[in-house]
Amino acid sequence: MLKLPVCPYCRAIYRYKDVKNVTHNKNCECHNCKRKFTVSYIRGRVIILAVTAVFLIALNLLMLNFLSGITILGCLILAVLFISLAVILFPFTVRFNKVDGEENKITLDDSKKKKRSQKNRSRKSNMSDK
Ligand SMILES: [Zn+2]
Repeated sequence: MLKLPVCPYCRAIYRYKDVKNVTHNKNCECHNCKRKFTVSYIRGRVIILAVTAVFLIALNLLMLNFLSGITILGCLILAVLFISLAVILFPFTVRFNKVDGEENKITLDDSKKKKRSQKNRSRKSNMSDK
């Protein structure tokens, strides 16, 4: 799950910095194949924050139980540390998705051609009936 996103069409690789820059763009164009894709990050972000929160709570509970002399400040520093780690991992949870229209372009053209050829065929068969 934790890997940098690639272009959904040509699998072009994006660097950490590039991903960070495009995360909040709704639509993006591939630098390699120039096709458009959408950027989704909310789901991955929610998951990583939830995992971090659960882990943090568990760790704090363990520390409070087994370590004497742990202070609130210690817990706080730990929390900040883990949350910043989650933030650093954000670009790894970003995903690029194909835009429906972009992929359907080819298939739409195909179906149009098919319909046309079907019409031609029925015209021909009508003629032959006469
Ligand atoms: Zn591409």
